[in-house]
Amino acid sequence: MKKLQKKIFAVIGNPVSHSKSPDIYNYLFKKYNIDGTYIAIELNEENIEQFLKEFAKGMNLKGVNVTMPLKEKAATLSRRLDSLSGLLKTVNTLDLTTGTGYTTDGKGLLLSLNYQGFDITGKNVVVIGAGGAAKSICYEIARSKVNSLTILNRTLLKAKELADIVGGAIKTDDLSKMDEYMHDCDLLINCTSIGMKGNDFEDLSFIHLLKKNSFVYDIIYEPRKTGLLKEAEKNNIKCCNGLDMLICQAFYAFEIFAGIMPDKEERDELLNIL
Ligand code: NAP
Repeated sequence: MKKLQKKIFAVIGNPVSHSKSPDIYNYLFKKYNIDGTYIAIELNEENIEQFLKEFAKGMNLKGVNVTMPLKEKAATLSRRLDSLSGLLKTVNTLDLTTGTGYTTDGKGLLLSLNYQGFDITGKNVVVIGAGGAAKSICYEIARSKVNSLTILNRTLLKAKELADIVGGAIKTDDLSKMDEYMHDCDLLINCTSIGMKGNDFEDLSFIHLLKKNSFVYDIIYEPRKTGLLKEAEKNNIKCCNGLDMLICQAFYAFEIFAGIMPDKEERDELLNIL
């Protein structure tokens, strides 16, 4: 009798040993009775190509999620790119059965905001950062019915380039001008790596300029409470860390891999487990 092979999926990048992705997908495989397993594989720019071309097939790998620093390289190695990945030249989900690369971070952030009960319609949104995560997030926000989108970045040129790629009426400015944009900001999203271990905002006084009914979203999930979130909480401003977005972007990738979109019940359970 032919032995059926387990479907294998993986997160690839460096570092990946502390990635939450195996916990998320293995939970979903169990929940939906899928004979699959999800592992973390440490790879770098020098060996990703050989891995995808030679080893992935041998180990029956059906799909990978791509994390730092391989998102751009993975886009160049994908046979096809969906329209967003083609525009941004980055991939966080690669379906190895079709060779197609996708980008699910921005969609994940919007789904998370929805689950958080925050409606972005008509809102003034300020994104800080213009790196990989900001790209996909700004793309999705610019296509929602927001009133305005402003991108603030330490390297202003990168914010301007991002605004050009995304298109539409996006304001850009230097991160040092942050205070000027806080008074009419409804949603502040931190897409920089400021707040990760050993690195934090030197001055968080801009939080005091925000409206009491504004929302602060920090896409960092390690640590769970960055200095930004602690300060927002102290000021009774609603906030959220990046774990919810991580789960929600994985739901879109799971839909690509397994054809099933998990729902809020699974998201709530995962928030408790992780
Ligand atoms: P990235 O491409 O390296 O971009 C980093 C951004 O942070 C750039 O805009 C950079 O500004 C800015 N930055 C870094 N250090 C800074 C400092 N000291 N002062 C001011 N700005 C600084 O990184 P990424 O992939 O976008 O990831 C950003 C963060 O999002 C990471 O913490 C990552 O873990 C998190 N993330 C979370 C999720 C999730 O699902 N929750 C998904 C993806 C990423 P310059 O342009 O001036 O260098």
